[in-house]
Amino acid sequence: MTVAVAAAVADGVLPGRVWIYSNYHCNLACSYCLTDSAPGVAKRALTADRMVRVAEQAAELGFDAIGVTGGEPFLAPGMAGTLARIADILPTIALTNGTLFSGARLAALDALAGRDIALQISLDAADPDVNDEARGAENFAQVIDAIPKLVERGIRVRLATTVGDVAPHDAARLCALHRELGVADEDHVVRPIVHRGRAAERAIGVHATRDDLPAELTVTADGAYWSPFGPTVRDGRVDTDLLISRTTDPLAVPAELLLRAVEGRPPGTDTTLNIR
Ligand code: SF4
Repeated sequence: MTVAVAAAVADGVLPGRVWIYSNYHCNLACSYCLTDSAPGVAKRALTADRMVRVAEQAAELGFDAIGVTGGEPFLAPGMAGTLARIADILPTIALTNGTLFSGARLAALDALAGRDIALQISLDAADPDVNDEARGAENFAQVIDAIPKLVERGIRVRLATTVGDVAPHDAARLCALHRELGVADEDHVVRPIVHRGRAAERAIGVHATRDDLPAELTVTADGAYWSPFGPTVRDGRVDTDLLISRTTDPLAVPAELLLRAVEGRPPGTDTTLNIR
């Protein structure tokens, strides 16, 4: 199994990153949220030890990177320490809204400095009103305040912009802003709103089929999925159309099922919508 996963990753047949959903609750309630996250929703959380175990098994199987997402991962106690443990196993990227980095949470991020980890923070526009309309009041100001503090600490920051459409002038302003904040061009990701979760409830976003989505093994408290765009939530229920297996431990079970599903697919048939 290990050889098969490693070979499929090396051949580009299977993406090397395994995603972990740490939790589903969030301090924000963005208009296009895939997971319908908000402060009061079910947490569906994985423990720190469970997340580390997923990373260990991913490495043993031949995967080569980890992604951590939610919800807002940093609402989970001790998340900086958990991410440091995961980054010691495989290169890691953690998605965050970037609004919780003050006081003890900010100080705890020192554990990430010098490790192979990037924090990917969402910012949708250079115009505060445009950004905050989708992501909540004061979001722009909080993100702009947080990013330099992370960069100063030696933490790599990526910026994710999720938009329906963006005019060239607005894109140029956003790029000027992220460069000013210390985020390199290669660390700025622009992707479409996907028509799942709250975006589907509001009838916005692009429709994505399984073949539009990279087959990135994704582990949640509910099971293993085809993609991090799989375990989305609508009307309080987690979607199952991209569910691979309810079994996630050992990770070899869903990894083998995913491998069987992607074998024979020519490389490059996915990501047609530039969804990352
Ligand atoms: S998009 Fe991210 S920051 Fe916004 S509500 Fe969903 S989980 Fe929270």
